[in-house]
Amino acid sequence: MSAEKNVHVAAFAFPFGSHPTPLLHLVQRLAAAASPAVRFSYFNTAGSNRKLFPAANLLPGHDNIKAYDVEDGVPEGHVFSGNPLEPIGLFIGATPQNFKKRLEEVVEETGSKATCLLTDAFLWFAAEMAEEIGIPWVAFWTAGPTPISLHLNTDVILAKLGQNDDKQNQDQTLDFIPGMSAVHVADLPQEILHLDTPFSRLLYSMSLALPRAAAVVLNSFDGIVDAAVENDLKSKLRKILNVGPSPHPPLNEEERGGGDCLSWLSNHPAAAVAYISFGTMLTPPPPELSALAEVLEEKKIPYLWSFRDNSKRHLLEGFFERTSSVGKVVEWAPQVEVLAHSSVGVFVTHCGWNSVVESITGGMPMICRPFFGDQMINRRLVEDVWRIGVGVEGGSFSASGLAKAFDVVMFGEKGKEIRGNIGKLRECANIAIEENGTSTQNFKSLVGLVTSYDQD
Ligand code: UDP
Repeated sequence: MSAEKNVHVAAFAFPFGSHPTPLLHLVQRLAAAASPAVRFSYFNTAGSNRKLFPAANLLPGHDNIKAYDVEDGVPEGHVFSGNPLEPIGLFIGATPQNFKKRLEEVVEETGSKATCLLTDAFLWFAAEMAEEIGIPWVAFWTAGPTPISLHLNTDVILAKLGQNDDKQNQDQTLDFIPGMSAVHVADLPQEILHLDTPFSRLLYSMSLALPRAAAVVLNSFDGIVDAAVENDLKSKLRKILNVGPSPHPPLNEEERGGGDCLSWLSNHPAAAVAYISFGTMLTPPPPELSALAEVLEEKKIPYLWSFRDNSKRHLLEGFFERTSSVGKVVEWAPQVEVLAHSSVGVFVTHCGWNSVVESITGGMPMICRPFFGDQMINRRLVEDVWRIGVGVEGGSFSASGLAKAFDVVMFGEKGKEIRGNIGKLRECANIAIEENGTSTQNFKSLVGLVTSYDQD
């Protein structure tokens, strides 16, 4: 048994998109469950830390969590080209030295050696770092079980389909991988098929490193995917811990969005409002924004739209003004609460994993418009496997395709079926987080794993 005062969990964040937030939520959850003597250090870039830690790198109510800044790899005076992969490439170039150096400084400053590395799974170099220090590496995978299984099968996929091969049949299913007969080549993250960018190489390195992790943790729950996928993961990883759906810590004013969304929603009848959000990184291209606006206006659907992209806002200014009596636009919505609100009838989403899980726990049907990464796989599962939502005709928004999707989900018989299916999946999620549920038990194992090792 460890002397808890010697336990120091070092968490490393991948500082892009929604990644840092669920890792911090996991750290908060662990810190609340562990002894107050356990120290949690959260390493992330300064820009990302400023958003997550309002007060001097501390979180109110969490005395045992402290944030530390690592270098982001951006040269002084650097002018960005606008390519979203550029800051990611620069950051990757700065790893692992930036984390290594800062961790050494923190150990020196605090006199407390790291006893566990808990990192975003993308930060694959933690396998070696943890082995060098002689401590466990716990990897947090922020997406679902299906994409991680596909990444772990990258070599099998490339052997079968060929790398960079544009002649791949997009409709071919991946039935040569356990549990993947519903997944099509078109659903695969591009990075699996094209190993020619720093980011795709990072993901490939991750797929090779993850079997060395003491555990891989997911915001997911047992039984959500085919048993063959779960068994394949179990055969490739030392331990897989589904600990979700993860509870969300109370929101601060900024996270709440300041737009008083919930009381606005309460003024609407049941299941009448469309909630629209494309996550933390995306805005659909202009013609698709116009198509969505056109259909909402034409069908007089009340909407709550989380819209932050100032470079595209002018495209919708007229629509927002004309529909201001039935629609609400905010820069940030308290999404978890919105998706659980009885006035919301559909979630128009890009199918990011957190959004999908939150939609399931809220019992909310989805209209899916995936763009990249794991989003196409999530859309496939939502529409064809779990049948808890629909895609749009042709894969991108057109007025006619969207009108059909809204008709199906909000006004048609199939909508009732979809709601029934999502109710069943939600029930599985709720059972997993009961006191004896699998996610609760897995979380307890995780607390044991990250706090059981000390250096003395
Ligand atoms: N989110 C939110 N309010 C918003 C937009 C997004 O709270 O207005 C949160 C949402 O609840 C989810 C996360 O941002 O937890 C987005 O994560 P996801 O994995 O769905 O997409 P990503 O941003 O990674 O593409």
